[in-house]
Amino acid sequence: MTIVEARKPDPKKFIKGATGDWEVVIGMEVHAQVTSQAKLFSGASTEFGNDPNANVSLVDAAMPGMLPVINEECVAQAIRTGLGLKAQINLKSVFDRKNYFYPDLPQGYQISQFKQPIVGEGVIILDMPDERVEVGVERLHLEQDAGKSLHDQHPTMSFVDLNRSGVALMEIVSKPDLRSADEAKAYLTKLRIILRYLGTCDGNMDQGSMRADVNVSVRRPGEGFGTRCEIKNVNSIRFVGQAIEYEARRQIAILEDGGSIDQETRLYDAVKGETRSMRSKEEAHDYRYFPDPDLLPLEFTQAYVDELAQHLPELPDDKKARFVADYGLTPYDADVLVAEKVSADFFESVAKGRDAKMAANWVINELFGRLNKEGLTIETSPVNAGQLGGIIDLIKEGTISGKIAKDLFEIIWTEGGEPAAVVEARGMKQVTDLGAIEAVVDQIIAANPDKVAQAKEKPTLLGWFVGQVMKESKGKANPQAVNDLLKAKIGIE
Ligand code: ADP
Ligand code: MG
Repeated sequence: MTIVEARKPDPKKFIKGATGDWEVVIGMEVHAQVTSQAKLFSGASTEFGNDPNANVSLVDAAMPGMLPVINEECVAQAIRTGLGLKAQINLKSVFDRKNYFYPDLPQGYQISQFKQPIVGEGVIILDMPDERVEVGVERLHLEQDAGKSLHDQHPTMSFVDLNRSGVALMEIVSKPDLRSADEAKAYLTKLRIILRYLGTCDGNMDQGSMRADVNVSVRRPGEGFGTRCEIKNVNSIRFVGQAIEYEARRQIAILEDGGSIDQETRLYDAVKGETRSMRSKEEAHDYRYFPDPDLLPLEFTQAYVDELAQHLPELPDDKKARFVADYGLTPYDADVLVAEKVSADFFESVAKGRDAKMAANWVINELFGRLNKEGLTIETSPVNAGQLGGIIDLIKEGTISGKIAKDLFEIIWTEGGEPAAVVEARGMKQVTDLGAIEAVVDQIIAANPDKVAQAKEKPTLLGWFVGQVMKESKGKANPQAVNDLLKAKIGIE
């Protein structure tokens, strides 16, 4: 079979080996925990952080005779996700048993969708700095999570915690369309944003709600796909990038040495910064998949899908396009703002009825900058949208200068309050009274005759005078008026 690849080799992404250029090919399988109150086939809670085995029903513990009952909310979440990925929704899908033994898998099999998944082909768009990349989604299927073995609780025994056992996961499989570690990171970032917008997965990678299996192969540009290795369960976006960089170099070194790549499963050791073999394909399991006899095929109507589609929120790509078109933002600023729905909403309430570019500037540079520095988020921000909007209004009216606005921001940040009232109470109003400014200008000019002479030759020295006047007026003089007055008095064009 010949595979027709949509993407042409791009020299900018090649990795230089000892004997020439190489191209890395990446495909990802992401496990995303479905946001739902209860598990996929039982009523047990999915709450994170409870005591071991607090969230376990008889179904999750696989007691004899227990029967799975599908949780409709999990099905709806998978459909919403499929719609968000612009994917084919399959009105009929089938749950299979994937048989294997593991101490934290009491059923002796995982219920998963193999041949007929609930969601088929879709697409995720990546806005990379100098190109737009479309990454194909192969499929999305629903499956159960397993429990967890605890090896650090007792010197001679291992314990099993079944809280995760039976929790619904969506496995989202990409096509091998990614060509660099940066693209792989951008893919995960974008997928996470989409899931969070949809409310179908919280995307908390540090709690294990999203894990990525990263398939990596290398080849000479223009050749067919090489043999891949799969790096299992990488739990941070940064580690995904590091694992790919390492793994591509490892494979290139082997091939350049005349060796060949064994298809194997590897793990990424973040401490050592390397991937290590877990098992080779020869040891691969035969899972003996067959349709679960306890579950009927999953069927729903197109009307059900359409109903869910009608209630989807605006997705990040659409929001970004709207921010660029309606507010005149740069694609870069729009990207920053739509990365979290709460940030986008915050910006929109600041921008409402105001200069949107100015609003974006204040939200991104002042507010986000400060939040980052303090380890806070929009949800915990001491300055709310109304207050930030108030500061912008005061600048626009000419009541305060941009510089004083930063001081005002600082005061609101630490002490709170209504911006206009704070400006009034603290006498921070900009001096636009020309007479008052002129007095200061005259004073500075009189005190610095030598500098005045220099400035006549070298007009860039005007900046020094502006600085002096602003300092003298404690930043309250209207900078434009200061500029105009100085130019006129010194005699600069
Ligand atoms: P399997 O079911 O055996 O894991 P799949 O064909 O479903 O294999 O692929 C699993 C993942 O591996 C997909 O994300 C796919 O994009 C990726 N993949 C397939 N072939 C390659 C390759 N040669 N290099 C990198 N990734 C690949
Ligand atoms: Mg696989």
